[in-house]
Amino acid sequence: MEFATFADRAAAIEAEPADLEIVDHVTDLLADANADLDIVARFVQGRVVPAWESTTLDIGPTTCYEAIARAAGTNVDGDDVEDRLADLGEIGDVAASYEFGGQQGLGAFTGGGADADSSGQGGDLTVREVHETLTDLAAAEGDGSQDRKVDLLFGLFNRCSSEEARYLARLVLSEMRIGVGEGTVRDAIAAAFDVPVDRVERALQVSNDYGEVARIAREEGVAGLDAMDLAIGRPVQAMLAQTGTVTDALAEWGEAAVEWKFDGARIQLHHDPGTADAAGAAAGETRVFSRNMEEVTDALPEVVEFADEHLDRPVILDGEVVAVDEDGTPLPFQEVLKRFRRKHDVAKAREDVAVRPVFFDCLHAGGNDLLDDTLTARHDRLESVLADDPDQDPEDVRGLSLLWRIDDPDAIESIDADALEAGHEGIMLKNPDSVYSPGRRGKNWRKRKPDVETLDCVVTGAEWGEGRRATYLGTFELSVRAGDDLETVGKVATGITDENLEELTELLEPHIAAEDGQDVDLEPAVVFEVGYEEIQSSPTYSSGYALRFPRFLGVRHDKDPEDAETIDRIERLRG
Ligand code: AMP
Repeated sequence: MEFATFADRAAAIEAEPADLEIVDHVTDLLADANADLDIVARFVQGRVVPAWESTTLDIGPTTCYEAIARAAGTNVDGDDVEDRLADLGEIGDVAASYEFGGQQGLGAFTGGGADADSSGQGGDLTVREVHETLTDLAAAEGDGSQDRKVDLLFGLFNRCSSEEARYLARLVLSEMRIGVGEGTVRDAIAAAFDVPVDRVERALQVSNDYGEVARIAREEGVAGLDAMDLAIGRPVQAMLAQTGTVTDALAEWGEAAVEWKFDGARIQLHHDPGTADAAGAAAGETRVFSRNMEEVTDALPEVVEFADEHLDRPVILDGEVVAVDEDGTPLPFQEVLKRFRRKHDVAKAREDVAVRPVFFDCLHAGGNDLLDDTLTARHDRLESVLADDPDQDPEDVRGLSLLWRIDDPDAIESIDADALEAGHEGIMLKNPDSVYSPGRRGKNWRKRKPDVETLDCVVTGAEWGEGRRATYLGTFELSVRAGDDLETVGKVATGITDENLEELTELLEPHIAAEDGQDVDLEPAVVFEVGYEEIQSSPTYSSGYALRFPRFLGVRHDKDPEDAETIDRIERLRG
């Protein structure tokens, strides 16, 4: 397909306000793309390479401006281009505002060069040539590579008409913005080649390559699409989470799969141990990708070592990489960032901050794709993949995120408490029967909603701990003001670390008014700030209300009991 034809079609799409009509335009475009189908299916979304490939064009705006300036004539420079950008606001309009063509010399790099239509009307450039040149450009590395990129790009602009230049500039800077999203191309592939949308969708999920899926839909139909599989080394879009509450999750699913939420960075591990040859050498492969499918293997040698040590079959695992101190205690998220995309001095950075992987999902194992299996089945598979022997206690399986299926909110609360106590972020709630939906922020994975409101409650009671905590007060009773009285609204044990316990015991012990076994009554003196999930009516507490999932956030040293919340506020918040 000529690039001019592509540019015309892109302009028509851009001018079209209605989504359905846009799908029609894209459908026609794909149907007419012939041998260039794979390229056109990507270009129309503003992509040069498939989403999963880590190749980037690595062209900054300045490189692009310089190439445009050179193609525009001897009296134009990069600053002029920037000035026009300030006026026009968009690089496509800027590129289209120049007359290109006729600039001698370096255009020869594209094969057409100065022989092309020197009036700047374009016409002989094909989408394939644009693609090939941009691929060469992406491969340019090392000394002088920026100059080479400018040369190659100049060669393309020099052969462009205004309309072609508009879309070339946008393509190169990943700013296509003609209203064609992933869903549009998915629907257009289905319409152009008469295959069901859900099968196109599945094929896109496993391959992440619109060009390849379009080609297979056309050439092999549904059977070809269904035969597309996950491949080790080709990342899958990560399934994402929404915020949600324990109450809703249990109401919808009856039982929730509960896991700790680790405060690190998402990773997808692709590992193939290889098959040992006669000499015992195995040509394996281990690659690690970020949530955006960027390759981060070299930055995370611990993950590669983990895979070599613990994995004996080809797998794709989904998980989190967490920074840890010498005892394995998790460090804040900021510490992982020091390691995550690092390209230089990795060994030195590793000495300062160590990381370890934790896996919570298994997308592929030993030749089988598991996306359509239930979470529970995938997690069982994950456990067997990571376990050193089949009878190993899950708690001892290195790198496994434990999963509990639970229908009791109090049991979920206690897992949340354990997660916070161990230094993690809290919990994730997942639908135990759900499939893995790549790229979706669906309802099947939920993270606890952050506290929107917090309450300042008076501490009116506590319990002495047990075992090693026998000398500490814990599980604090919370109250609010009702006129001159105090009425209880709940008990908080979550969110309190060992250090907090010591501090809080020191603070509260002088206010003990009465003791009965482990139970302690406290004079109202100390105010806690607590978060909670919701407020329910409840006969358990004297206020008639209960805070669901209260969590300790801190002591309000600046507040007296007289400044604490009132029962009116609790009633209002309950709504
Ligand atoms: P957020 O980044 O706040 O949207 O939370 C979702 C992220 O939590 C995921 O993308 C993961 O990176 C991370 N995460 C930590 N632990 C888990 C887990 N057990 N299951 C799923 N995601 C987790």
